[in-house]
Amino acid sequence: MAGNTSIDIRIPPALLPADGRFGCGPSKVRPEALAALSRATEIGTSHRADPVRSLVRRLRSGLTELFGLPAGWEVALGNGGSVVFWDVASFGLIERRSQHLSFGEFSARFAATVAAAPHLEEPEVIEAPPGALPVAKGAPGLDAYALTQNETSTGVMAPLARPAGADGDALVLVDATSAAGGIPFDPSEVDAYYFAPQKCFASDGGLWVALLSPAALTRIEAIKASGRWVPGSLDLADALEQSRRNQTVNTPAVATLFLFVHQLEWLLAGGGMHFAAARCRASSGHLYGWAHQSTFAHPFVANPEERSTVVGTVDFDPAVDASAVCAALRANGIVDTEPYRKLGRNQMRVGMYPAVDPADVEALTACVDYVVSALG
Ligand SMILES: *Cc1c(COP(=O)(O)O)cnc(C)c1O
Repeated sequence: MAGNTSIDIRIPPALLPADGRFGCGPSKVRPEALAALSRATEIGTSHRADPVRSLVRRLRSGLTELFGLPAGWEVALGNGGSVVFWDVASFGLIERRSQHLSFGEFSARFAATVAAAPHLEEPEVIEAPPGALPVAKGAPGLDAYALTQNETSTGVMAPLARPAGADGDALVLVDATSAAGGIPFDPSEVDAYYFAPQKCFASDGGLWVALLSPAALTRIEAIKASGRWVPGSLDLADALEQSRRNQTVNTPAVATLFLFVHQLEWLLAGGGMHFAAARCRASSGHLYGWAHQSTFAHPFVANPEERSTVVGTVDFDPAVDASAVCAALRANGIVDTEPYRKLGRNQMRVGMYPAVDPADVEALTACVDYVVSALG
C-alpha cells in the first residue's frame, strides 16, 4: 500500500460491521426505531394532547421501571439537553455552594458554569488529569455534590456514592448523560440523575431528563419559595409541574421523544438494565481485551475498574497514526471513532451503547487491524 493515503484502503466487505456507527453522541439509532418513526402517528400533532402526552407518560413510567426508582421519586423533562440542565441545576438545585469532581471536558464545564453563576458561592473543585478519577470529599457547608457517572471525553466511569461526611441534606447531582441506560446505579446514593437521550437511549438530542429523589424535590420547592430569580425557561419547579402533566414548558421535538420511548421499551423488553449493561460489558470487554493483546494499542484509562463500559478509549503507539486509521475507517463507512477533539491524543474512541451490537465491535477491531497492516 506504500504511496496510498489511508482513505484509499478498501476493507474487505466480509470484515465490515453490519452497522458502522460508533459515535459517542449522537449515537447509533437502531434502524427498527427509524422505520417505526416513519409511521409514527404522533409526529405533527399537539404536544398538549394525546398521543404525544401518552408518549411522555410511557417515557416517565418506563424510566421509573428501568431504573427501579423508589416510591416518591419523579421524572422531569425539558428542552435543551444536558448542557442546559447544568444551568437549570445551578438555579434550581444548588442552594449556595457545591463540590465538583472535574476529570474531563464535561465535568469541568459544569464546574465552570457554577463558578460563573453570580447567585452561588465559588464551588469547590476536585480535579484529576484526563484518564483518572478524583474522589469526592464530604464537608460541612456544601449543599450539593456534582458527580459524573461516565466522563465521555476520556472514557472514565465512576462509582456513584454519597460522599462520607456530607451534610445530611446535601444533594448528590449526577451527570449521567452517557451512562444512563448502559451503566447501572443505586438510586439510594443519588438525588438528581440527569441525562439526554442521544447516547444510551439511541435517540436524538435536545431534551434533558432528570430523575429526582424526594430530597431533590424538597430542595426545588425550598428554592422556589425563597424567591430566587430564575429565568423562566430554566425553572425546574415549572418543568416539574409540566412533567407531572406529561408535558414540557415549551414544544419538544416529538421525534426525539418517539425514538427515546422506542429504545426504552426495547431495553425493557430485552430484560431492562441487566440486559443493557450486559451488552455494553460484552462490547467493552472485547475492545479492551483486543487492545491488551494488540502490538500497537492499549487502553487509555490505567485503572481497569475505571474503564468505561460504554465509551472506550484506546491509545495507539506513535508508530501508528490514529487519525489516519480513523480516516480509513470513515472512508469505509465506519464512522465517529475519532477521539474527543480537545483531548489531543493519538487515540480512538468507541461508543458501545446498548444499541451497538457487540458483534459489530468485534468486526470493528478486525477492521482496525486490517487498516493498520495495510498502512504498514
Ligand atoms: C454529551 C454529554 C453532555 C452534553 O449533552 P448535550 O445533550 O449535548 O447538552 C454533558 N455531559 C456528558 C457527560 C455528556 O456525555
